[in-house]
Amino acid sequence: MTDNGDVTQGSVLLTAALDGVPEAVVICDSAGAVVFENASAHKVLSSRPSDALLVQAVDELVAEALGGAEPYRRVELLSPSRRTLAVRAFPVTSPPEGAVAVIEDISDRLRLEAVRRDFVANVSHELKTPTGAIALLAETIEGETDPDVVSRLVERLGAEADRLSRTIDDLLDLSRIEANESSADDEVDIAALIDEAVARLLESAESLKVVVSPAAVDVGLRVRGNRRDLLSAVSNLVDNAIKYSEAGGAVRVEAHRTHRGVEISVADHGIGIPSRDLSRIFERFYRVDRARSRSTGGTGLGLSIVRHVATNHGGRVKVRSVEGEGSTFTLILPDATPSSPI
Ligand code: ADP
Repeated sequence: MTDNGDVTQGSVLLTAALDGVPEAVVICDSAGAVVFENASAHKVLSSRPSDALLVQAVDELVAEALGGAEPYRRVELLSPSRRTLAVRAFPVTSPPEGAVAVIEDISDRLRLEAVRRDFVANVSHELKTPTGAIALLAETIEGETDPDVVSRLVERLGAEADRLSRTIDDLLDLSRIEANESSADDEVDIAALIDEAVARLLESAESLKVVVSPAAVDVGLRVRGNRRDLLSAVSNLVDNAIKYSEAGGAVRVEAHRTHRGVEISVADHGIGIPSRDLSRIFERFYRVDRARSRSTGGTGLGLSIVRHVATNHGGRVKVRSVEGEGSTFTLILPDATPSSPI
């Protein structure tokens, strides 16, 4: 093959390789004229009005790079969707001289960083509140001589320590479940799972004068997955139904086989959830009423755990709720019940 053939083949390969790069690459000659743009650059710089801002940024940064600088700038685009692009440019000094501009969409990275920052701030706050209370109570006990007061303070100290330890347990559970590394090979008997979840919470139901009945559970239902995580999800739903019921309330747990899979529903006639909060209650630490959640010992993590368990099992969770009337949470999971007609 001739030199020319090599050069042609090389440049075809180079174009194909650069077209496969997700970042937009623009190469300019020493006069600042564009001599090459890869497929991503063509797409991002194609002439929509809002991209004029980006074209201008590339022009300016290329001009600076031709002067020997390595400039960097963030460009916010509002249309067709809100995006943040990072534009970098650098000079090519070996002849033929020129400059290269690289444009990268960093919106997802910025969003993830913001979520992580929020999460760290929330965790710190959630841990700081009980630790602060513990320190204060310990200090007060030290100077107290009245045994009745001391015993009341010690009781509160215990409650704060419990809250701290529940938050840490839920955080550990959530991070394990989010990593989705637990084995998912158990064949889980749903009726037995519901019985166990209800039995665990019977004491707290009794103390709040709420009746829990595992009513209407189809026989033989099976789901394939991680039993411990599924138990944690169902227990969280039953726990909430109890906590957010009024004294004398009833909680009903059902499980049926439907065309959508195995549906486990937990219904209460409690305080309900305002419609404006419904889309947010599955977020970590989101509570409709902080004071109520605190007084019932909530960590604000239960529903995040439920949602992650559902997703990890290829299912989902849905909620129907009317403020002042009650809520029904339904876990929908892929059916692994041995074949028999519905
Ligand atoms: P918490 O530990 O605060 O209960 P969750 O993540 O389990 O946290 O729930 C988030 C919020 O959703 C609760 O603080 C509460 O405001 C609301 N919520 C959850 N379940 C119910 C329910 N059955 N009835 C009314 N509100 C509920």
